[in-house]
Order: sequence, then structure tokens, then C-alpha cells
Amino acid sequence: MKQVLTNGMIEMARWSGLMPAFRKIFAGRAAILMFHEIQQDSRSELMTGTSVALFEYSLNWLRQEGWEIVSLATCLDRLASDSGAGGRYAVLTFDDGYRDNVATALPILERYSAPFTIYVPTGAPKRTLQAWWLGLREMFRSEDTVTIDAMDRRVHCPRLREKMAGLNEVTEWIHQDYNRIGMLAPTFNKAGLSLSALNEAYFLDERELQGLARHPLVSIGGHTGSHAALSCLDTESARAEMADNRRYLEQLLQLPVQHFAYPYGDSKACGPREAGFAKDIGFSTAVTTRHGHLSDTKSDHFALPRIGVGGQFDTTARFEARISGIQSAAHMLLGSQR
Ligand SMILES: [Zn+2]
Repeated sequence: MKQVLTNGMIEMARWSGLMPAFRKIFAGRAAILMFHEIQQDSRSELMTGTSVALFEYSLNWLRQEGWEIVSLATCLDRLASDSGAGGRYAVLTFDDGYRDNVATALPILERYSAPFTIYVPTGAPKRTLQAWWLGLREMFRSEDTVTIDAMDRRVHCPRLREKMAGLNEVTEWIHQDYNRIGMLAPTFNKAGLSLSALNEAYFLDERELQGLARHPLVSIGGHTGSHAALSCLDTESARAEMADNRRYLEQLLQLPVQHFAYPYGDSKACGPREAGFAKDIGFSTAVTTRHGHLSDTKSDHFALPRIGVGGQFDTTARFEARISGIQSAAHMLLGSQR
């Protein structure tokens, strides 16, 4: 019901000319956008990333609405130095280091002269990453019946809609408790699914990353070694996941690595302890997946909020609602916690 009311409010605001008023009240001075894959054929990837169409739409919308696309460092500098006046800033971030970020997104980013940050876990270019989310997607994409033993669940999914719903259900189950990630291994083994083949197919390799790092628009950031949910690890392991990843990237790229993204990025995966590690290790910023704008100079640079773009349910209207602050307004007025 709340979703219906929210959608109604979003539509009303869009068509009633209230957009500018909402924006003034609810949108901050800046927003960090979060992307993962930028997909040429989203349907074949079960709508898990951002379509090229939505990606281009979002960049175009930002430009038309007067949001200047700047690097994360520039954005934080501007917010600190010109609070009160000044423009609105958007920062583009991409998690995990997907091949399509270079093959598909980069030519578009170049056209917009848009700086961007890519957060890379060591396991992706080293080809050791256990990317369970790609494994699950592959199973749902290629099979008409998927059995997840750990959930005691068997999903019959010959059609796209059922594949998307099934994938969503299992993904949600994992996000409820990141300790469940390891429970998927027997399922992948039984299905004869090779996570290392997916690793090779979907993630940039070391040489490609070295090339990309020299591009004037890009910053490469850290994203742990194994893409672990840091809160589930003991102090020593969590710290090592972050520090070793930074050291590896700096050595590989011969550049300082200043920015970090917490894998999964929600309150179950990271908190004040991890923010402390990020600071100690020498990162200058760390981003979460907590939804929100940056409004002032007081934002905690080690727990920065982001606005996600993409996924099964995203549309151009929803993108506009999120970035313009209408969604937050609707949730606030309807008493929902976001
Ligand atoms: Zn990630």
C-alpha cells in the first residue's frame, strides 16, 4: 500500500510542477550514484544491472538539471569550501570492476567528460573471487528448475519473470544474513557451475585495470580482498581484507588508492568499527549503500551514503524521484523508514 502511495506522490509531484519545490527541500547539495554492471542486454542478465538506456538517461538528466558531475574528491572539497552557495554535484561510482564498465560505460562517460570511481576487490582481477551473485544468476538464467538446498527450496522458472523472481528471492535470503553466502557452495558444485569461469567472463583482469587506471577520468578504489561482509569477520581479518586490498591495488597500479567501498555496504555489513579501519589504513573516504544525499560539510567521510541506480525494478521515473529527493519526501510524509 505504501509503495502505491509513494508512487502516486512521485507521479503527482512530477506532473504538478512541484518538482523544484521538493528538490529544494529534500535533495542535498550532492549525490553519489552507485552502479554495478552497465548492460547492453539487461534481459539476458535478468535485469540485475543498469541498462545502457537508463545509464545514458541518468547522465543526460543530471546535465540538464544542472548537476555537475565531478570526482568524489572534488565533490567533498566543493562542499567544504562553498557551502551555502554553489551548484549541485553528482559523483559516479561503480562497484566490483566489471568488464562492461570499460566496454560499455566508458565511451559514454568520455562523451560526458564525466569522472568516475571503480571499486575493485582483489579477488576479481586475481580470478579468485567467489562471486555468488553471478553464480546464482547463471543458474537461474540457464536452468528451468533451480534447487537451493540450503533454503530447502526448489524454484520452477522456465520464464523470464519467474527467473527474476527466483533470483530475487534467493538474493534477499542472502542479504538477510551474509553468513549464508558459504552455504551456496554445495549448490554451485552440484550444478557443475564454475565461479572462476564467471570471474573471467565478467570482471576486468589485471592488465585491463592497469590500462584503465591511466585514464584521466578514472579513480580506482578499494573494495576488500574477497568481497567479504566485513562485520561478519573478526578484527584482524576485517582489517587485513581492507589493508591488503589497498596494498595490492597500489602495487598493481603504481598509484595511491584513496577511496574505499564497503562490500554490501548496509548496516549488517559495516559500521563504526569498519569506518575506523578505513581511516587508520589511510583511505580518505569510504562509501556505504545507505540511501541518501550529501547535504553539507558535516557528512562523515567514512560512511558516505549513495543512491543506487539499476536492478529489476528501476525506471527513469524512479531514478528522478530518488535523486530529486521526492522519494525521501514521500517516505517521510508516509511515515516509512528508508
Ligand atoms: Zn561489491
